[in-house]
Amino acid sequence: MLKAENIHKSYNGLNVLKGIDLSIDKEEVVSIVGTSGAGKSTLLHILGTLDVPDEGKVLFDDVEVSSLNQKKMALFRNERIGFIFQFHNLFPEFTAIENVCIPALIRGDSDADKRARHLLEILGLSGREEHKPSELSGGEQQRVSVARALINEPSVVFADEPSGNLDSQSADDLHQLFFDLRNKIGQTFVIVTHNMELAGMADRKLEIKDGIITT
Ligand code: ADP
Repeated sequence: MLKAENIHKSYNGLNVLKGIDLSIDKEEVVSIVGTSGAGKSTLLHILGTLDVPDEGKVLFDDVEVSSLNQKKMALFRNERIGFIFQFHNLFPEFTAIENVCIPALIRGDSDADKRARHLLEILGLSGREEHKPSELSGGEQQRVSVARALINEPSVVFADEPSGNLDSQSADDLHQLFFDLRNKIGQTFVIVTHNMELAGMADRKLEIKDGIITT
């Protein structure tokens, strides 16, 4: 479903990615590991269309996203891709439900409220809908960001160190949630993590070393 072919990326003469090839199937949970600075986030951003490779292709089904113009790429990203970041990136002035609805409103879907409430409910956040991020625990904030990632029913959710800022119990709960979502709704996840437990739970663990995937 998602393929990357011969991805190269350099920053100011530093060759970070030197020919990455990978293929991810629907309903897979794949982890990406590697030392700090190995290029994990760079790869995730390129796969998620937040950045473009210097060379190589990213294909979703048969769409070559790396060749879309900026406007089409933004539309594609909004409709087909969900993101979860280490520091949840929720808007502090908006409530949980409003934060979850934002990607759907951008898409012009005015019917998102009901789906957002349902998502918050299945993520164990009933009763927290009207809370602002500062009124939620770290684990709850991250679950709101999971709901936001899922609101447009994306093909893939990309997560960059999603539990990096959580206590160990909240981290374990979040990791379990990814697998529950895969089992229940068939969600595909690609997760960059330092957490070896999470990396090991994944269907496949890819390691980036010296700019290429070694496993
Ligand atoms: P990881 O996620 O594995 O820790 P990154 O992908 O964040 O690694 O970064 C890989 C390397 O690329 C690092 O040396 C980093 O400093 C560099 N890098 C990443 N993004 C940029 C950027 N926008 N501009 C310049 N250098 C960057």
